[in-house]
Amino acid sequence: MKLKYSNKINKIRTVALALIFAGMIIMYIGLLFKNYEWVMVLFMFLGLIAIVLSTVIYFWIGLLSTRAVQVVCPECERPTKVLGRVDACMFCKQPLTLDPNLEGEEFDEKYNSKKYWKEQEKKKNSNED
Ligand SMILES: [Zn+2]
Repeated sequence: MKLKYSNKINKIRTVALALIFAGMIIMYIGLLFKNYEWVMVLFMFLGLIAIVLSTVIYFWIGLLSTRAVQVVCPECERPTKVLGRVDACMFCKQPLTLDPNLEGEEFDEKYNSKKYWKEQEKKKNSNED
């Protein structure tokens, strides 16, 4: 079974790139409506929003990158970045974890959610009672 999961930073980067293209396409469509000024302005404005948004996302990736941990993938031996508790290798999509307790566990995105860990904590506490 192939893992559907991909590296988080890569995923966000793809979204940002798609937004830039979408913005350009929207602006281009706007140019086709030269005769209807308000339509053109509307499309230009929407296109601009998409491009500004993607710039913001790129900036955010920069911030995330500094928080991500650089590791060498054991599978392809290339340096990749891990964001959160579990993430996938940027190159070969090998699931990686920074938590030694999760080593060998089956990959699950739920390990990244705070809610999951809170519930685990609750379970643990109720078992001790
Ligand atoms: Zn790899």
